[in-house]
Amino acid sequence: MGRANRRPGNRLPAMPTRGTSLTGRLTGRLAGLIQQRLGRLGLRLLASYLLLILVGTVMLVATAEWMAPTAFHRHLQQMTEAGGPVPEHLARDLYRNFRAAVHESMFMAVSVSAAAALLISLFISRRVVEPVRTLGAATGRIAAGHYSERVAVPGDDELGDLARHFNQMAATLEQTEERRRQLLADIAHELRTPLASIQGYMEGLADGVFPPDPSTYELVHREAARLQRLVRDLAEVSRVEAGQVSVHPQPTPPSALIEAATARLRPQFEDKGVQLLTPAGPTAPELPPVAADPDRIVQVLINLLGNALHYTPSGGRVQVWAEPAAGGTMVRFVVTDTGIGIPPEHLPHIFDRFYRVDKSRSRVGGGSGIGLTIARHLVEAHGGEIQAHSPGPGRGATFSFTLPRARP
Ligand code: ADP
Repeated sequence: MGRANRRPGNRLPAMPTRGTSLTGRLTGRLAGLIQQRLGRLGLRLLASYLLLILVGTVMLVATAEWMAPTAFHRHLQQMTEAGGPVPEHLARDLYRNFRAAVHESMFMAVSVSAAAALLISLFISRRVVEPVRTLGAATGRIAAGHYSERVAVPGDDELGDLARHFNQMAATLEQTEERRRQLLADIAHELRTPLASIQGYMEGLADGVFPPDPSTYELVHREAARLQRLVRDLAEVSRVEAGQVSVHPQPTPPSALIEAATARLRPQFEDKGVQLLTPAGPTAPELPPVAADPDRIVQVLINLLGNALHYTPSGGRVQVWAEPAAGGTMVRFVVTDTGIGIPPEHLPHIFDRFYRVDKSRSRVGGGSGIGLTIARHLVEAHGGEIQAHSPGPGRGATFSFTLPRARP
C-alpha cells in the first residue's frame, strides 16, 4: 500500500510503485484519502472500529460453521422421521448444497454489513476528529499571536467543554496582551512630555533663547524630577499589580494610622492654607484595632490626603476620620475635601492606571495618575475596598476605604 503523504496542499497520496495491482493502487489511494481526511487520531479510531468489525465477522463465521452441520443433521433427522429415510448420496448432495448456500449468503451478509459498518465508522471518526482538528488549528494560530481566535462549541459533551475552555483561555490571553499593549502605550505617552520639555529647554539654552541662569536649570531639574517620580511610580505599580508587594497586617489602632499620615502632611497644609481636620483628643471615637500593615496603610492615607490637598484651593478644608462599617466587622477610613470635585463620568475610572480627570491640570502638579491605582491594590491586598464619591465639579470629593477588624 502506498504511504500517504499528509503535507497540506497535496490532495492525493503518493502513488504506489510500479507493478502493484489495480486493487492495491485503489486501496492505496483510498487509505491516503482517509488519512488526509482523518489524520492520525481519526485513523486510530477507524482502526479500532475495523478491529471490532473484524472480530464480529470472525465470530459470526465461526459460529455459523460450528452450528451448521449439527443443525443440518437435526433437520435431516426430522425429515427422515416424517417421510422415511433419505438415501445416503442425496443426503451428501443436500449437505453440500446447504453449505454452499450458507457460505454464499454469509459472504453477502458479511460484505454488506462490513461496508455499512465501515461507512458509519468513517462518519463517526470524522465527527470526533473534526472538532479536535479545528482546535489544533486554532491553537496554532494563537501561538502565532492571533489572540482573537475562537472556535465553535460543538455541543455539551467533553469536546464542547474543551472548546469552551479553549475560548476562555484565548479571551484571557487577548486581555493580557491588550493590557500589555496599553501599558506600553501609556508609558511611552507619559515619558514623551517631560523628555520633550527637557529637550526644548536644552535647545533653548544652546540657541541662547533661554538665559543660562538658575531659573532655567531649575525648569530642567523639575522635568527630570518628574521623570524620576514617574519611573519610581511605574516600578511600584508594576510590583503591586504583579502581587509582589507583601503586606504584613498587624493589629493597629485606626487613630495611630491617621495620626502618622497627618503628621507628615500638616506642614504642607499650613503652607497652602488648607485646613486639616482630624478627630483628635477625647472626641475621637474609640474604634477597635484594624488588621493593617502600618507602612502600607499610611502610604494610602498620605496619597489620599496629598490628593485632597492638591485639588483643594487655599481656604478650603480637608477632613479625615475612621468609623465602624459592615456591621462592625470592618473599619472605614474617610478623607473628604471641599476642593474642585470630580465629574460623575470620571468616577468609575479614577482608580485606573494613568487615569487623570484633567490631563493638563494634573501635569502642572506632576501627577502621573498612578497614586490611586497603587492605593487600590494596597487596600485590596488587606481585604478591603476603596471608593470615590463626588457631588460634582467644584463641590469636593470623598475617598473612603475599608479594612477588616483585627482578630482578638
Ligand atoms: P495623580 O498622581 O495624577 O494625582 P492619582 O491616581 O492619585 O494620580 O489620581 C488620579 C486622578 O484622580 C487625578 O489626576 C485627579 O484627576 C483625580 N483626583 C484624585 N483625587 C482627587 C480629589 N481629591 N479631588 C479631585 N480630583 C481628584
